[in-house]
Amino acid sequence: MPLRVLFVNPSPVRGGAEEILIGICRGVDPGRIRPTVACLVDGPFPDDLEAAGIPVVRLRAGRLRQAVKWAATVRRLSSLARKHDLVVSWQVKGHFYGTPAAYLARRPAAWWDHGIRPRRGEPRYWPDGILPKLLPVVAVAADSHAAALPIPGAVGVHPGIDARPYIDAATERVAARDELGIRAADTAIGIVGRLQPWKGQHVFLRAAAHLAERPDTVFVVVGDAIGGFSATYPASLRALSADLGITDGVRFTGQRTDIPRVLAALDIFVHASAAEPFGIVIVEAMAAGKPVVATRGGGVDEIITDEVNGLLVDYEDDRGLAKAVERLLDDPALATRLAEAGRTIAVERFTPENMVEHATQFFERAARKGNP
Ligand code: UDP
Repeated sequence: MPLRVLFVNPSPVRGGAEEILIGICRGVDPGRIRPTVACLVDGPFPDDLEAAGIPVVRLRAGRLRQAVKWAATVRRLSSLARKHDLVVSWQVKGHFYGTPAAYLARRPAAWWDHGIRPRRGEPRYWPDGILPKLLPVVAVAADSHAAALPIPGAVGVHPGIDARPYIDAATERVAARDELGIRAADTAIGIVGRLQPWKGQHVFLRAAAHLAERPDTVFVVVGDAIGGFSATYPASLRALSADLGITDGVRFTGQRTDIPRVLAALDIFVHASAAEPFGIVIVEAMAAGKPVVATRGGGVDEIITDEVNGLLVDYEDDRGLAKAVERLLDDPALATRLAEAGRTIAVERFTPENMVEHATQFFERAARKGNP
């Protein structure tokens, strides 16, 4: 009998955590796992899940702090949970609904969080209070984060991506560059991700300013403030590039839905986050065959080996970042060697098949733990 798994998804929009959810639901062997996704909020991501043929229940949960609505949603979820063998709550918000619903329905519960951060002072620190003690089993995206959690048995399940679209998009390079205002003679250095301070786009711009003297170099910032976070950060980035006097060399593309094509337009990929939970976009850039410069820490250390498939620098070290980019600009053979090693790792290690198999084993283990 396949395991009937009810996922509780809090997000209306698609980011890294949602890529993983949809990838797992699409990829699981129906003989082992039958997924249903209960979506707390409506939006494009629930639509994408449905378009991918995954059963979706839309709950329109309202806000967490509305106690009456919260209780009604938990009740609805618990009656859904009774028709399933396991409840897997996605992210912190999913946990506030999914875990009580599982307890009410007397079903085993698991929690999946893409980016639990173990230390205070970081952008999303781990709450050290009572919550961990109430926890069922937990999976996060990086082994280092799992090891740092105060929860025995927490595991890391590395995300995996389908590399094919990133490889194939190479044929669209010229058209994509044209669209982004990158000339044939330009070297395009890009950063891709939600615009949020901890993602370090301001560090990228400061590094760009150190490289501004180099001719025919453009800097591409891809992404926007999504999900209601850091709404003023995009404007502050534009102001920063004006202050640094680099506006002409910087392209802000906004949020894109064609990342394989955008990556095809770039020559060097930069990732500048603080202790990134994982950084799926790094694997995407490696699949696209781009040399990577990234900030060390968190999940990044599990993707990039310094000097082998990328160059690592410290967070907020804009001079170090500029120097690493400069090494790639000055040494095309180094850039090619790192990019080739990166593509091999993306294609062989961070596959959807590996992710789905590890996730399936995690769900099976969680279900065996029995009722809470
Ligand atoms: N992404 C996108 N459009 C954008 C910027 C980012 O589709 O304009 C995608 C990116 O390709 C990646 C995901 O959003 O698949 C970000 O995942 P990651 O793990 O790098 O970061 P997260 O957003 O989960 O913190």
